[in-house]
Amino acid sequence: MASIFTRIHQGSIPGEFVFRSERWFAILDIRPANPGHTLLIPVAEAQYLANLPGATQAELGLHLCRLTAAVKRATGCPAVNVVVNDGPLAGQEVPHAHLHVIPRWEDDGKGFRFNGKADPALAATAGKLRAAWGD
Ligand code: AMP
Repeated sequence: MASIFTRIHQGSIPGEFVFRSERWFAILDIRPANPGHTLLIPVAEAQYLANLPGATQAELGLHLCRLTAAVKRATGCPAVNVVVNDGPLAGQEVPHAHLHVIPRWEDDGKGFRFNGKADPALAATAGKLRAAWGD
């Protein structure tokens, strides 16, 4: 069955579109974290960014940069969070890859901290990542 985002793209479910292009489109999130919360969505359905077709991946950066600028201009927000929940354990509810562009204002009550801590295995992890990058 087509994902909810594909059904919005195809017009069987309503959506507030920001733009449509051959490989990407953007809509407003129906439950915005802040006003102007926008979803950047590939037309191709894949759950993970890494599984999108190459031509779609290649256009991601341009669309994302343009969209963050448009969200700031339209809402007047001084900052945005760009969030990807790339898998259910990361909070992904809709299994069709997408990026959240969330306007942020001072004292908007949203916060955002990873609460990271020092990691004695940092160098070993970097080695694993360098090997994975080369695969
Ligand atoms: P995620 O948790 O990263 O999968 O986020 C999915 C997002 O899709 C949530 O923020 C939802 O509010 C949003 N969403 C779900 N259904 C719709 C819809 N029909 N139109 C717009 N946004 C939606």
